[in-house]
Amino acid sequence: MRIDLLTIFPGYFTGPLDTSLVASARDADILDVRVHDLRDWATDRHRSVDDAPYGGGAGMVMRADVLVDAAESVWNDVPPGAAPPAAGAVAGGARPRTVLFTPRGRPLDQALVRELAGEERLVLLCGRYEGIDERVHELVATDEVSLGDYVLMGGEVAAAAVIEAVVRLLPGVLGNATSTAEESFERGLLEHPQYTRPAELRGLGVPEVLRSGDHGAVAAWRHAQALARTRAVRPDLLGPDGSAEGATRPG
Ligand code: SAM
Repeated sequence: MRIDLLTIFPGYFTGPLDTSLVASARDADILDVRVHDLRDWATDRHRSVDDAPYGGGAGMVMRADVLVDAAESVWNDVPPGAAPPAAGAVAGGARPRTVLFTPRGRPLDQALVRELAGEERLVLLCGRYEGIDERVHELVATDEVSLGDYVLMGGEVAAAAVIEAVVRLLPGVLGNATSTAEESFERGLLEHPQYTRPAELRGLGVPEVLRSGDHGAVAAWRHAQALARTRAVRPDLLGPDGSAEGATRPG
């Protein structure tokens, strides 16, 4: 998979892209990430990417001309300043899935993560300031995605979250390919409780069934625990009758 990041803070991604499984995926050529500085598409000597809002009001707004040029360059693999084939066009095919991060977007969940993980290319566009000129939403975004019902200072942390969640689903990234199937949200349930050594800590033991060696009993216990935990803290994940069978499954 190839991911292009568009941001005014390219340095933000130094840690997330060079750590753990994301770094391994890049080393193994499973993942190709390219970080682009939006200021490279600015046209004035101050490298401005923002301007005052029409109609007045607080803060600055990210400029549509700069962001649209940047997205079209990245779609077409041409450097800043070089002309793309034609306005809005993408040489040799459809535009890649282009995610614009915004609090008004579709909330990021495991179903959306799976969808994005199925793409060959993603372009992730990070906003800053008071937001992004509405015309960028119209001309560039194939998807608007929110990290949750709160306001961040910028889209970079949302982009890093998408990368973490998507990359671990790419074939070859996780050692044990079955390990994602039982995770939270994959079956409309939260994950069952996990234990490792020591067998006792400060008076707290480990459920006997997990040490029984009876794989059937362990699976049944885990499913019951996952269901009980989901009912207790996230009943919204379950179907109207409260059963896992009726739960929303990721697409
Ligand atoms: N004025 C905007 C509003 O009220 O919706 C918030 C702008 S925010 C300070 C700047 C940028 O951070 C946004 O353009 C967006 O890219 C990103 N951002 C903020 N909150 C976000 C969220 N919950 N999910 C995804 N991106 C977010």
